[in-house]
Amino acid sequence: MILVSSCLAGLEVRYNGTHCLNNKIRQMINEKKAITVCPELLGGFSIPREPAEIIGGDGNDVLDGNARVIEKSGRDVTEKYIKGAYITLQKAQEVQATAVVLKEFSPSCGSSSIYDGEFQGKIISGDGVTTALLKRNGIKVVSEEGLADLLGDA
Ligand code: SF4
Repeated sequence: MILVSSCLAGLEVRYNGTHCLNNKIRQMINEKKAITVCPELLGGFSIPREPAEIIGGDGNDVLDGNARVIEKSGRDVTEKYIKGAYITLQKAQEVQATAVVLKEFSPSCGSSSIYDGEFQGKIISGDGVTTALLKRNGIKVVSEEGLADLLGDA
């Protein structure tokens, strides 16, 4: 089983109520080869919500207590991001996920690139909070870009 970001499956769960449908992922859901997960909703957020970015590092730094997740208006939402990450890990373990496909650039789901914390649209290298936790627990995480390789591997 593969776990995938809900927004990539077409669910309107992003901070602004939109989705980022990837047709291949939608097909995997229809064929019951994948199930959806949205770490931010699992962490207790609703739709819509304020955009947030990691300040001072990436998801690994957040897990280590060296960086924070902050909403655009300044509210510290780090604990909710960590909570969502742990519930996602639990789900991945429950379904014995062989891999997880997450939406790039998100402070939760980014798997090689995230925003730099300045809310200016600038991208830096790094993992989101959920991605970092999954990787630390030995789970393979790729972005939608890595899906073809993943399916080729399968
Ligand atoms: S990127 Fe991740 S946390 Fe954000 S809406 Fe998609 S699934 Fe949810």
